[in-house]
Amino acid sequence: MAKLILNKKIIKYGKKIEDIKNIKKDFLLKNDIFLRNQLLKNKIYKNQPKRKKCKNCEQRLTGEKIKVQNIEYIYCNKCDHLNGIYQDTERFIETIYKTKSINYSKNYFESEKKNYLKRVKNIYKPKAEFLKSNIKNYNKLNILDFGAGSGYFLAALKEVKINNFLGLEISNDQVSYGKNMLKKIHISTEKLKCLSFENSLKLINKSNNFNCITLMGVLEHISQLSKFMKTLKNNKKIKIIYLVVPLFSLTAVIESVFPKIFNRHLGGSHTHLFTENSLKYLFKKNGFHPHSEWWFGQDFNDLARSLEVTSKKFKNIASEKVISQIQNLIDDFQIVLDKKKLSSEVHIIFSRK
Ligand SMILES: [Zn+2]
Repeated sequence: MAKLILNKKIIKYGKKIEDIKNIKKDFLLKNDIFLRNQLLKNKIYKNQPKRKKCKNCEQRLTGEKIKVQNIEYIYCNKCDHLNGIYQDTERFIETIYKTKSINYSKNYFESEKKNYLKRVKNIYKPKAEFLKSNIKNYNKLNILDFGAGSGYFLAALKEVKINNFLGLEISNDQVSYGKNMLKKIHISTEKLKCLSFENSLKLINKSNNFNCITLMGVLEHISQLSKFMKTLKNNKKIKIIYLVVPLFSLTAVIESVFPKIFNRHLGGSHTHLFTENSLKYLFKKNGFHPHSEWWFGQDFNDLARSLEVTSKKFKNIASEKVISQIQNLIDDFQIVLDKKKLSSEVHIIFSRK
């Protein structure tokens, strides 16, 4: 396997909110449905055993608290990780995936090929381009997309002419839908596999093929985080890990003070949040250091949405005029946060030390 050659480090900021216009619209129209769904998940989460150790640094969990939708979170004073006070057990994750009334997968389903492709183009292709721009000999990349969902990122890789990849996903529903879509865009259905978490780890353990692992909104959902990280650490063929994770930022604070608004960020299946410090701590501990970073978030979009939906509930029609003026400035507000690395999400490419 040829050695991957990294280009010079890139630190990039900002992305137009326009790219997620449709998702934005859905959050406005279906606020109450989405919120009810989160509260159902929270109810299951509250039945899990209490967390005694920090999810990230595994030391005794102590620190300041924040409450969102009746769930308490503790900001670890050792590694700056935000932990829900209950454990995100395997059983919790499984229940969320399998409970019909929650139907976790539903959010990610686009009924038509047109919508699937739009999502690939606006959301996933820029992610794939960022990875590509970091690897000089990108044709040597062999990617394992862990938690591949319905294959959106796989489709994006093909779009940017990266052709060696395999996607693994634990949700059968997402895989069968994804295979259907991949077929339509001429990607072999063999490239997306339904595999349990345990079997996925076994595959990584014995594999000699993959030099890059991608985790697109996945790391925060992994129950056995340290076991997973050790598996990546021990397979020395893996040189690059590329991920996007949600972060503890203004968005979570907005969610803590708007109880009637759908909390997309902290709640439901997001039971803990990284910070820049806690994320880099975890990867350093497992032999990887940050190479390139892309900071962009949705904090101001979340604020505008929370104001808009709340004003509608209060029938404050005049407020809506002001809010709609602010809507056009979301990118301007957000870039200020992004440039300070205070965004609600971050994309990072880590490379093996
Ligand atoms: Zn910690």
